[in-house]
Amino acid sequence: MDNAGLRAALLDWYDQGTRELPWRVRGGRPDPYAVWLSEVMLQQTTVPHATPYWLEFLRRWPTVSDLAAAEDGEVMSAWAGLGYYARARNLLACARAVAHDHAGVFPDTEEDLRALPGVGPYTAAAVAAIVFDRYAHVVDGNVERVVSRLFRIATPLPKAKTEMRARAAELTDPVRPGDWAQAMMDLGAMVCRPKAPLCDRCPVAGWCAAKAAGDQETYPVKTPKAARPRRYGAAYVMRRGGEVALVRRPSKGLLGGMLGLPTTDWTGERIDGVAEAPVAADWKRVGEIEHVFTHFSLTLEVWAAEARALEGAVWSRDVAGLPSVFLKAVRLASGHAAKRSSR
Ligand code: SF4
Repeated sequence: MDNAGLRAALLDWYDQGTRELPWRVRGGRPDPYAVWLSEVMLQQTTVPHATPYWLEFLRRWPTVSDLAAAEDGEVMSAWAGLGYYARARNLLACARAVAHDHAGVFPDTEEDLRALPGVGPYTAAAVAAIVFDRYAHVVDGNVERVVSRLFRIATPLPKAKTEMRARAAELTDPVRPGDWAQAMMDLGAMVCRPKAPLCDRCPVAGWCAAKAAGDQETYPVKTPKAARPRRYGAAYVMRRGGEVALVRRPSKGLLGGMLGLPTTDWTGERIDGVAEAPVAADWKRVGEIEHVFTHFSLTLEVWAAEARALEGAVWSRDVAGLPSVFLKAVRLASGHAAKRSSR
């Protein structure tokens, strides 16, 4: 493949405009904190969904040292809705390491970035390339898709990742690695889309093996997914006046460290919601919600009652920052209460 010609075509396309993103600085050096934050938020999350969170984090914590000094609970609440809460815990651990061990200044090499807690190979490469213009191979889902089509990589994911990384490394522009990384990501997001890629507008169509063969959407080849297991449980909406009882979840495990509703364990069997309720009360079953986590689907019975006390609970009127599984449960209980009162 004529790598020099392909690089020139893609960078020329990138220079003509592509996407504007709030954390992107063309022709200058972006703030490493802002780029790192965007990269952590964008893992498993779309740009439109992550953008308001990114803006709010920068408003509340304008520097990495400000974030490092924040309370864990505040950051967890601000993260609610982005999912994958382990990332929020890693975010704080990394901010604190930068603030305390590096005097608030992000390291500027891939290797040193990789040594920070919670910073994986992808994030280290992305920050090194985008912020410091280091020669690094930045391979996200968009880049995997582009590379798999350019080279018609027939090995299914995830096994194909090694080959995809090697192919992406061959292509990386040695002179402008930061712009190269962003150009590849933009190509994947805007043109080489998962469905119906816009090959007529693609700057590298002339080099694309899948386009030549007419089977673009076959790539990347995926291993069929095993069905997600289902778990069952119950959540309890305990009200005292306008307040709801919330409990802090254990720091390790799913939604660790977050405030949430009291719940049973989530297991493979349906449970008896009244028998497992956290306190005796006049419990009403208001319905069920469905929620999908990465590794399982959850059917959660929702029970509601007026109650006076629950050991260890925080009574709050503000439920907007709860993880979405609990927000769904509170909304279901509120809708049920509203219907009852209008009868
Ligand atoms: Fe993707 Fe089509 Fe461009 Fe190939 S020609 S890289 S399939 S958009």
